[in-house]
Amino acid sequence: MIDYLAHFQSTLDQLKQERRYRVFATLERQAGRFPHATWDGPDGPRDIVIWCSNDYLGMGQHPAVVHALTEAAQSMGAGAGGTRNISGTHRAVVGLEHELADLHGKEAALVFTSGYVSNLAGISTMAKLLPDCLILSDALNHNSMIEGVRAAGSDKLVWRHNDLAHLDELLARAGNRPKLIVFESVYSMDGDVAPIAGICDLAERYNAMTYIDEVHAVGMYGPRGAGMAEREGLMDRIDVIEGTLAKAYGTLGGYIAGKRAVIDAVRSHAPGFIFTTALPPAIAAAATASIAHLKTSQAERAGQQAAVAATRKALLDAGLPVMMTDTHIVPVMVGDPDLCKQASDLLLERHGIYIQPINYPTVPRGTERLRITPGPFHDHALVDALAGAMVSVWQTLGLPLTNTRTVSR
Ligand code: PMP
Repeated sequence: MIDYLAHFQSTLDQLKQERRYRVFATLERQAGRFPHATWDGPDGPRDIVIWCSNDYLGMGQHPAVVHALTEAAQSMGAGAGGTRNISGTHRAVVGLEHELADLHGKEAALVFTSGYVSNLAGISTMAKLLPDCLILSDALNHNSMIEGVRAAGSDKLVWRHNDLAHLDELLARAGNRPKLIVFESVYSMDGDVAPIAGICDLAERYNAMTYIDEVHAVGMYGPRGAGMAEREGLMDRIDVIEGTLAKAYGTLGGYIAGKRAVIDAVRSHAPGFIFTTALPPAIAAAATASIAHLKTSQAERAGQQAAVAATRKALLDAGLPVMMTDTHIVPVMVGDPDLCKQASDLLLERHGIYIQPINYPTVPRGTERLRITPGPFHDHALVDALAGAMVSVWQTLGLPLTNTRTVSR
């Protein structure tokens, strides 16, 4: 007889042995005080500072966003009441889709309950609808895209990360079948940026479709916050732009935007869209307010960029092994899962600084790191406190502090 519980327990023991067992810090963020939060530590609740939030611009506490959410909840209630097909298509969700289509200069947009689901449903459905489709996927694509590729069941080829020559080679061999190139604009762990123009050139040359994940770029790049493709003037050369409402926009949900026929086909065929309850109207209203605000306001983007520059400089000046990136992501390399976890624990317990350790499988073994995401509310005092605390932790753990100012990828 199988001992089911023992089996599950053994998988947990294995994770613990490999130092990959995940422990979550229980937090309560306080609107109006981001990045401050309360942490339920071993000695009771304690005030801490979050340095690893994906609410990159603090829009989750923006008065206009919170107001839109509470007002919509008061007037429309808490939930959507059904799938999009069965009474869940509220004005607020339709309005959000119009806002997103306008943001990306596309004919249509479709909202999902998360960015994860939008990738899973979007990629798999598009590929399934294209007979004999070949998917070309960047080697560092996010798990939601990998699962989308898997669920498609189509042939797939993985191109070396950001390597245009390799993509060219694979496309040249693919022949005349339908091809879908899937990639991200900002890669969240290394903070590097895809060669979007080069990918568009290749897609046009080989008649392939393009699908870009701008999850770590929307809200933050481009004059209206539409992402890297907007910043580089390339939005109209990309077939499908996917994004999230849960990071820079500070709420919840995901979406795809593109030509009406493509978006309508996904709407009509994707199980991950059809068979699940729609986003609550209050969330849709909050997301719409956030997008509308960041279309015109540059203050949050400017504040973030200033905080990123100040943080990077303070950490480098202190001799910490900062990986250089062109974006808002500031990885500090540790290179060992145990030490990475210990560094994170010490920062939290001794210094009230919360930075989640990033270990395998999120990043390759040997490249474990602390991933810091400075935002507009991290002021100079917080930056100085961070640098001081990290140096102290590095010294406690016997980690090297470098004199050279950069660590290459
Ligand atoms: N794409 C990428 C590149 C991501 O990093 C993430 C989440 N971290 C997602 C998609 C999923 O987005 P969401 O959190 O909205 O589900």
